[in-house]
Amino acid sequence: MSTALPVLMYHGLHAGPDSRGRFDPVYSVHPDAFTAQLDWLLRNGYRSIGASARTATADGRRVAITFDDGDVSNLEVALPLLRERGMVATFFITSGFVDQPGMLSSAQVALLADAGMEIGAHGRSHAFLEDLDDAALAAELRDSRTRLSALTGRAVESMALPGGRGSERERRAARALGYTHLFGSVPGPNRNPDRDRWLQRIAVTRGMALEEFASLVAWRGPRPRLSRMRFEALSWPKRVLGNAGYERLRARLLKAAP
Ligand SMILES: [Zn+2]
Repeated sequence: MSTALPVLMYHGLHAGPDSRGRFDPVYSVHPDAFTAQLDWLLRNGYRSIGASARTATADGRRVAITFDDGDVSNLEVALPLLRERGMVATFFITSGFVDQPGMLSSAQVALLADAGMEIGAHGRSHAFLEDLDDAALAAELRDSRTRLSALTGRAVESMALPGGRGSERERRAARALGYTHLFGSVPGPNRNPDRDRWLQRIAVTRGMALEEFASLVAWRGPRPRLSRMRFEALSWPKRVLGNAGYERLRARLLKAAP
């Protein structure tokens, strides 16, 4: 029987702008909030599974915890908190960011894999795949998979599309190169995760209250609808401005924020 699979999308875990790693005012979740979220999942009977695993549980409560980009806090902050609780997560790593300042080193990527965490791909350069021609698209998808496999000694089966953006062309290319589980950033509960090959994710953002987190995981109450509407509203400027224009606008708005 197929039961819903909430997939949580994190980036870095940072107490503040001076924390190690690359702080983002929207996506950097405070380590204390992350800890409270993990404990909420455990209290409510959720069992964590890897992004490409489809392990059934007796009462159907499963959750996939994912991290994008490969911030150094994935190892230094997230890993110990996960291990203390016997939980697993999937780290979607942009291969071209490995060994850059604030990001995971090659050795740290291997450590995450050796600790039983799943390593998935997140492009080579983090270019938005829709902006690339076919040859550049194939190179992004292939090179990142090859590099991560070499670092971990394991096959890389899952991928989160950079920016969560991709249409049928990008997904077909990824499947042709061997990715079996693809993730975007459309918010949703994944009602048929064992059948769907293109999974929705719930973005966990800085300052999110625990009750909002809980209602998104359970996909109940008014919060899910609000998050969908917010996502739709944000996809308009993306469509109108293009991916690069949208990123510039986002950077300007974040700088203007108090
Ligand atoms: Zn990303």
